[in-house]
Amino acid sequence: MTRTGLYPGSFDPIHNGHLDIIGRAVKLVDRLVIGVAVDTGKSALFSLEERMEIAREETAALQGQAEIVVHGYQGLTINAARALGAQVLVRGLRAFSDFEHEFQLTAMNQQLDRDIETVFLMADPRHQAVASRLVKDIVSMGGDVSRFVPAGVAARLAAKFAPA
Ligand code: ADP
Repeated sequence: MTRTGLYPGSFDPIHNGHLDIIGRAVKLVDRLVIGVAVDTGKSALFSLEERMEIAREETAALQGQAEIVVHGYQGLTINAARALGAQVLVRGLRAFSDFEHEFQLTAMNQQLDRDIETVFLMADPRHQAVASRLVKDIVSMGGDVSRFVPAGVAARLAAKFAPA
């Protein structure tokens, strides 16, 4: 049986914390779907196509450890997981503050689909504090994000915030 995991998120844009989690998740599944949410619940800096393209580029090096597929999805994550044939939902825990929200989400998802298990992975401490929102804030104010995102992502961010 092919074990499929779905790692959902906004990925606006993908950063070193996400890539750390992906690097761990590929050890657990045969196929990892990076689910890029159409609805981010906030206005995204990058379009869905851009977020997917960046995710594809930055995970290319991890291909082979497991098959990595980047997929856009709309609506409930648990429905996307079922449609993709995923047995596992992968979530990253950043800080204690994530716990309550994730705890609730997982409890609800357990009711919605009893066959899909959520696994939580922790990034290396160097990457735990990285968040897309903060990365965007730093770039918008002219700061250096090279420790938080791969070079290709830093270049795309710089282009977004470059004066017209
Ligand atoms: P969301 O919009 O759902 O917060 P994100 O794109 O920010 O989605 O994150 C997607 C997933 O990656 C979530 O499970 C989130 O907890 C996890 N994640 C984000 N940043 C980090 C990080 N620095 N370390 C570990 N996990 C992270």
